[in-house]
Amino acid sequence: MFNSLSDRLTATFKNLKGKGRLSEADIDGTAREIRRALLDADVAVPVVRQFIAKIKARALGAEVSEALNPGQQVVKIVNEELVGILGGKTRELAFAKQPPTIIMLAGLQGAGKTTLAGKLAYRLKNQGHTPLLVACDLQRPNAVNQLQVGGQRAGVPVYAPHPGVSSEAEVATGDPVAVARDGVAQARQALHDVVIIDTAGRLGVDEELMRQASDIRTAVGAHEVLFVIDAMIGQDAVATAQAFDEGVDFTGVVLSKLDGDARGGAALSVASVTGKPVMYASTGEGLKDFEVFHPDRMARRILDMGDVLSLIEQAEASWDKGEAAKMAKKFADQEDFTLEDFLAQMQQLKKMGSMKKLLGMMPGAQGMRKELEQFDDSSLGRIEAIIYSMTPHERAAPKIINGSRRARIAKGSGVHVSEINQLLERFGQAQKMMKRMASGGGMPAGMPGMG
Ligand code: GDP
Repeated sequence: MFNSLSDRLTATFKNLKGKGRLSEADIDGTAREIRRALLDADVAVPVVRQFIAKIKARALGAEVSEALNPGQQVVKIVNEELVGILGGKTRELAFAKQPPTIIMLAGLQGAGKTTLAGKLAYRLKNQGHTPLLVACDLQRPNAVNQLQVGGQRAGVPVYAPHPGVSSEAEVATGDPVAVARDGVAQARQALHDVVIIDTAGRLGVDEELMRQASDIRTAVGAHEVLFVIDAMIGQDAVATAQAFDEGVDFTGVVLSKLDGDARGGAALSVASVTGKPVMYASTGEGLKDFEVFHPDRMARRILDMGDVLSLIEQAEASWDKGEAAKMAKKFADQEDFTLEDFLAQMQQLKKMGSMKKLLGMMPGAQGMRKELEQFDDSSLGRIEAIIYSMTPHERAAPKIINGSRRARIAKGSGVHVSEINQLLERFGQAQKMMKRMASGGGMPAGMPGMG
C-alpha cells in the first residue's frame, strides 16, 4: 500500500547519496520532495506540515556524526519521525484486572468492524482467551448474521438478540445498548474473559450514531474502544477520526483494508492527529489477515530501507570511537599510514558486518568500490595472516618489502606471493587516498578511510 510513497522517498534519499555535506538548500530540496510525496500519499496537510518542520529542524541542527554521513543522517531522522507519527511504541490490548475485558468496536459503516470482530476473536482465542462476540450492530441488515458467520469460523460464540430466530425487522427495533449490557452479563455468567462488541456504523458521522456508541461505551464500561477505519478513505480519515475521538474517546485505532491500493495517508494521519495509537492492521477478508501494527516496522516498510536502516544502526553501534580518533589524529599530525593502520581499518569494516552489504551503503566509496567488491569476508583473515607475518619494521615501512621478503611472508602466512603483491598494491592505493583526504580536510563522515 505504501509502494508509491516508498518509491518517492527512496528516490529522494538516493539524491543525497554521495554528498559529503548537506547545505541548507539540499535540506530544503529534500524536505520539499518529502512533503510532496506525503501529500500525494494522502497524508493530512497539518500532519505533513508538522512532520516537515521537524525533519528540517533536526536535519539542520544535526550534529556532525562520526558514524553516519549526512545522507544517512537524514534517512535516520525521517525514520524516527515516521515512527513517531505512526504512534511510537507498539501497543497491544490492555486486559482488565477483573475479567471480562470489554472491547468495543466503533467506526463508519463498511469500515470493517464486523470482519475485524471475527479476526480479533480468533486471535484472542488462539492466545488462550475465551472471547464472546456481542452483536450490537442492529442497523445494518445482515450485520448480526455476518457476525454469527464470523464467530462460527473463528470458533467463538456470539451473543445476539434472539439468536437465530429474530427476523431482520425485529432486530432493527432492538436497543443496542440493552443488547450490549445483556451480552456482557452473559459473558460474566459463562466466564468469558474477553467480550468483543460490534457496534453499528453509518455512512457518515452523525450525532445519533455517536450518542449510541457513547451510550454503549458507558453502559458496559468498555476497557478498550477500537476505532476501525478504512485505510482507503484518504483525506477524510482525519475528520472522521477526530469526530469519533470526540464522540467515543476511543483508545486505539485499527486500520482496515491495508491490503488494498490505499495510498496509506490514513495510517500516517490518524495516530498523529488524535494521539491514539494504531494497534492493528487488517489486511484482507480472511480470519488470519490481521496483524499487530508495529510503528517501527511500518516506517521501515514505508522507507523501503530495512537493510539500510539496520546498517545505519550497526554502523553507529560498532563504530570504535577510540580507533577513529587515533586515525584522525594521525592525519592531523601528517603521520604515515602504515600497514597496521590498513589492517585496523579493515577490521573496523569487518565489525560492521558483511562487506558486500556495506558496499551499496557507502556514498563516495566509488574509488574503492571495485576493490571492495572482490573483498569477501574470508579475505580479511588472509590479510591478517599476511600482515601478522611481517616484522614490525615491514609493517611500518612497507616500502622495504622486496622480493625475498615477499617470499618469506608468503611462506609464513601460507599464501601465494601474488596475494602479497595484491595486498601491497591495495595498500598503496589506500595510502594515496589517505594522503588526499588528509590534505583535503580530514576524514569524511562515514567509513574509516572509505568515505
Ligand atoms: P462494518 O460495516 O464496519 O462492519 O464493515 P464489514 O466488516 O462488513 O466490512 C465491509 C466490507 O469490507 C466487507 O465486504 C468486508 O469483507 C470488507 N473488508 C473488511 N476488512 C477488510 C480488509 O482488511 N481487507 C479487505 N480487502 N476487505 C475488507
